[in-house]
Amino acid sequence: MLDKAVGNKQVFSFTEGDGKNKQLLGGKGANLCEMTQIGLNVPPGFVISTEACLEYLASGKDELPEGLMAAVKEQMQAVEATTGKGFGDPNNPLLVSVRSGSAMSMPGMMDTILNLGLNPDTIQGEIRQTDDERFVYDAYRRFIQLFGKVALGVPDDLFDEKFAAVKDRAAIKEDVGLSAAHLKEISEQFLEVIRSHTGRRFPMDPYKQLELAIKAVFRSWMGKRAVDYRREFHITPEMANGTAVNICTMVFGNRGDDSATGVAFTRNPGTGENRLFGEYLVNAQGEDVVAGIRTPKAISRMEEEMPEMYRQLEQLRSRLETHYREVQDFEFTIERGTLYCLQTRNGKMNAAGLVRTSVEMEREGLINRDEALLRINPKHLEQMLYPRLDPGARATPLAQGLPASPGAACGRAVFDADRAETLGKGGQRVILVREETKPEDIHGFFASEGILTSRGGKTSHAAVVARGMGKPCVAGAEGIHVDVLLREAFVGDSTIREGDLITIDGTTGNVYLGEIAMVEADFSPELEVLLGWADTAARLKVMANADTARDAARAIKYGAVGIGLCRTERMFNDVERLPVVIEMIVAESPEQRQAALDKLLPMQRADFRALFEAMSPRPVTIRLLDPPIHEFLPSETQLQHDLQMLYSLRSSVRGMEVLAGTMTLLHEPGQAIAEAETMRRLVEVHLVDEAIAKKEAMLKKVRALYETNPMLGHRGVRLGITFPEIYRMQIRAILEAAADCATRGMDVFPHIMVPQVCTAQELKHVKRYVDSIRQEVEKAYGQPVNFKFGTMIEVVRACMRAGSLAKEVDFFSFGTNDLTQATFSFSREDAENKFLPMYNRTGILQDNPFEVLDEKGVGKLMELAITWGREQRPDLSVAICGEHGGHPESIGFCHRVGLNYVSCSAPRVPVARLAAAHAALKD
Ligand code: PEP
Ligand code: MG
Repeated sequence: MLDKAVGNKQVFSFTEGDGKNKQLLGGKGANLCEMTQIGLNVPPGFVISTEACLEYLASGKDELPEGLMAAVKEQMQAVEATTGKGFGDPNNPLLVSVRSGSAMSMPGMMDTILNLGLNPDTIQGEIRQTDDERFVYDAYRRFIQLFGKVALGVPDDLFDEKFAAVKDRAAIKEDVGLSAAHLKEISEQFLEVIRSHTGRRFPMDPYKQLELAIKAVFRSWMGKRAVDYRREFHITPEMANGTAVNICTMVFGNRGDDSATGVAFTRNPGTGENRLFGEYLVNAQGEDVVAGIRTPKAISRMEEEMPEMYRQLEQLRSRLETHYREVQDFEFTIERGTLYCLQTRNGKMNAAGLVRTSVEMEREGLINRDEALLRINPKHLEQMLYPRLDPGARATPLAQGLPASPGAACGRAVFDADRAETLGKGGQRVILVREETKPEDIHGFFASEGILTSRGGKTSHAAVVARGMGKPCVAGAEGIHVDVLLREAFVGDSTIREGDLITIDGTTGNVYLGEIAMVEADFSPELEVLLGWADTAARLKVMANADTARDAARAIKYGAVGIGLCRTERMFNDVERLPVVIEMIVAESPEQRQAALDKLLPMQRADFRALFEAMSPRPVTIRLLDPPIHEFLPSETQLQHDLQMLYSLRSSVRGMEVLAGTMTLLHEPGQAIAEAETMRRLVEVHLVDEAIAKKEAMLKKVRALYETNPMLGHRGVRLGITFPEIYRMQIRAILEAAADCATRGMDVFPHIMVPQVCTAQELKHVKRYVDSIRQEVEKAYGQPVNFKFGTMIEVVRACMRAGSLAKEVDFFSFGTNDLTQATFSFSREDAENKFLPMYNRTGILQDNPFEVLDEKGVGKLMELAITWGREQRPDLSVAICGEHGGHPESIGFCHRVGLNYVSCSAPRVPVARLAAAHAALKD
């Protein structure tokens, strides 16, 4: 009873619920309370708390918590008093909606029932009240079907079949053509479907209906769809636990041409434009808009069609934004000229929309800069850097739909979610093509590059879910007819078969056959502004991992303040370099090696000069050669294969010689000599012999360099010490390039970085090369060379000996790719291919430590190394250049442990800049 109310109240009127308590009332419930309390026109109603849901689910008895229905009754009486209607009153019946709503928005994942309270008695009252028999029977048949499906578990198909049969018999195509008599007949058949499927009569007592509906909504929290959704989006019980139930007076958008229903955003969620955005349908119920059953009209049309209502809607938009200080996604209904707001929530927007609204709302004074930064999840910025269709690509669209979620995607067409999942998991890029999508298609979304539907609008299920996921979506491409059974779609004379490549452009709504060229995304002016604010707020700096001048230019465009890692081996792999690198590796004597290095020196010097020029005056961190040198040689198998071919060729060439010598026996002497000469010129045997000698020497070298565990073998600084001439050449190239730039008046800051160091002795060794070469270069150029010397920290011993390493260097940079392998003793490739997915699935490891920095293990080593390093050298600069340097949560950790900068690949630089700001603001 209500004595449970004190301290354990489970039912709250919209006029009393705490609009801030989303955990207790769910997002929708809390907002209904808040909107009511700030004076917006919300139909009267109340919320049953998430705690009641948890208590019901925990009991396992299918019984609502004690006293709950009594409290519900009391609230219903209050609603009756406000509306002047009676629940179950045959003269003036009160009808309600029963909706789910948890603390986190999970669109379409849980259940809703509308028009509850209808029965044969109240129908008559409703007909008298509305004077519209057709409308009432339409509401009734919708209620029976929804209630049957949600509360009684009757499959939709059974209702759909009956519905279609009546339509067929009456030769009616559109639902609107059905008369009151048809709808009445359908309602009766639906009641019969329920009786025969469940063995029981449809409950006619409104309170019984309400009780069953509440239970069904509670149960939907544990339904498969909802559970899958929470798992995919990592929604933990701390974020949302249980669903609330919102019970709200029904208002009807299908009461004639002065009624309508719609969904709108206070600003455009795709572009961020500050204009009402949305869709509506005249004379329709809300589900018609969301389900995509009728294609709705753009909200701007309402300005002409219902000008007064449009004015009120604009007013509502402004009141919502001023109150929530956030873009709102709201549902409204107009019942015979009165506007009601039925729901509001923070609008899910894509990155471009978020960035523009952040900047504009700050300028409008709605939010401050910190809020403008914090409302954008750094990960979402990656979306803005998605490829778009190349504007130069001259392709003719096959079809056009609505641009429902921006970005372009290409993949193989598939026509159902299960196939999309199978092919997607098999590594294929797929586009899910459906007539319309439903919540149960969600697994297909995860597996697809993009979504294409032939029905529904920009607020249809497909559009909302794709936008939330940041996947391109084209919706309502009506020219496409999907045949799921045949696994084909027809567009005019063309057919798209399963597996055909198609390209969709969610920014324009165009659909193309085949693969269309794409280009990188541009920085919008708003993104520049926002990231400028982020840089001011952040303490961590962001550099880029970049190996060429082209990468460097991109890094600057994305706002990197320098290069934190240039992997010089990438320069060695250039097609023109590789032969010289191979020459250096297979050299039999120091002289031969030096000759090859002498050829490489000017090439490397030019590489570094180009990098310094591109980055000046920013620092450029160059890592000396890291991988084992046999990586530059062909594999043993390849060489053996080549040799077999050459040996056969040698026999063939010898055969040709024999044939040439035999010519005189076959032809006249003159002709015979000419032909023999031609044959001899074709391939000369000594050429083949030389090729064989080279390949055999290389094979010998490959065998000599063979290592059982190359990643733990002869690489990094070990290589630099055993083949000093390689590191010497690189150090000389760096210092000469720097001196050359400095002579030309350029500010350049090279940072020389040594990989794989485990002891200070190694650093001392390399430092000796650096010191002697520096002296030579300074002498040659007649001026001092400005540079820093540092080490990567990527083996466990380096962390343990950080104090002594710090005495030798100006900076540390954590190579967390190798450090993670070393800490776990996992080889990355083997781990990711064999056991890591299973470890993640079963929760043995929560994340993939190669993507998300393992703070407890690898992070602990980092903290020790930072402390010990700075004890020796308080001004030691410490950074990270492993892949974790671009991961937002890991960046938070890097901030907390006091790194100076993170370095990551260029496209992740904007993400890292925002993440660095978040870290500082949350500090
Ligand atoms: C690292 O180990 O983190 C690193 C940056 O080096 P690489 O990835 O080149 O081994
Ligand atoms: Mg490494």
